[in-house]
Amino acid sequence: MYDIIGYYDAETVDEATAFLAENPNLKLIAGGTDVLIKMHGGQLEAAELLSLRKIKSLSIIRKAQDGTIVIGAMVTFSQVFNDPILREMIPILTEAAISMGGPQIRNIATIGGNVCNGATSADSASSLFALNAQLKIEHVKGERIVPIREFYLGPGKVALKPGEILTEILISPDDYQGFGGQYIKFAMREAMDIATLAVSVVCKLSGKTFADVRIGLGVAGPTPLRCLEAEEFAKGKDVSLETVAKIGELAVNSAKARTSWRASKEYREHLVEELVQRALKIAVVNAGGGELV
Ligand SMILES: Cc1cc2nc3c(=O)[nH]c(=O)nc-3n(C[C@H](O)[C@H](O)[C@H](O)COP(=O)(O)OP(=O)(O)OC[C@H]3O[C@@H](n4cnc5c(N)ncnc54)[C@H](O)[C@@H]3O)c2cc1C
Repeated sequence: MYDIIGYYDAETVDEATAFLAENPNLKLIAGGTDVLIKMHGGQLEAAELLSLRKIKSLSIIRKAQDGTIVIGAMVTFSQVFNDPILREMIPILTEAAISMGGPQIRNIATIGGNVCNGATSADSASSLFALNAQLKIEHVKGERIVPIREFYLGPGKVALKPGEILTEILISPDDYQGFGGQYIKFAMREAMDIATLAVSVVCKLSGKTFADVRIGLGVAGPTPLRCLEAEEFAKGKDVSLETVAKIGELAVNSAKARTSWRASKEYREHLVEELVQRALKIAVVNAGGGELV
């Protein structure tokens, strides 16, 4: 049932990258909630697993001196949800975390695994897109930083090269300080369901105008995406219901929705327009603006 031909534990990132350099066939396993399901379903056979679970440095959430929020790749969704720094600074990520799976899954599933499985429905993704997250990726020969928008290449495909490990997710203070945000997951039922559409919005106000708006969408295309046309339009515009309605309308232009058994393309586009507006109205309040009526 689980066709595992080898299992190794790394205790440090250096040890893990060295293992990978020695044996390129190793499959990384974090919480295992995707990997083990694939093995059970026969999509992954004769697996040699390299576990990251003993690498303590990857299970930490911290705020660096310059205000950058650093989230280790092995941080679980329960940790994300309960973390006081994240709750205060970037609640759109903690809201996304509590909407994910059930308690057992949240206790074991990691944010790194969520990003690296490359799913457009990954609950962390739309918020990480809206937050302009940067990914620290390590290899035996060094490290590189990749903006999350360049990381997703297609369904289930991410920009990890052989031997590389995602070690940290970084969110710069410029991308969260002074912003208000809101995450909305639309699913067919409230309990434990994959998103039909996910919307994460942050905005910064300058008096009665929008200084900045960023909109991340999940399941609106083959990968998570940003609504750049709507974001560009928003800059400098009055904070009003009319502007919010136009932003919702323009957001649909960035969606690459398609019909699946969960929802039709048209229904998903309707959700984009409606949920972007709802999320943005709440984000305005969270950014210190008044309620739009
Ligand atoms: C019952 C159930 C319900 C679920 N509900 C949801 C849901 O509501 N929302 C949602 O988004 N997901 C859901 N999932 C999917 C899954 O739980 C998440 O995608 C989870 O975050 C994966 O994390 P993991 O640590 O278990 O990853 P793993 O299964 O260990 O790994 C996933 C992939 O990422 C790679 N990987 C892991 N860590 C790293 C790393 N640090 N560097 C490089 N590659 C790495 C692995 O090789 C593998 O390809 C659900 C799964 C189950 C079984």
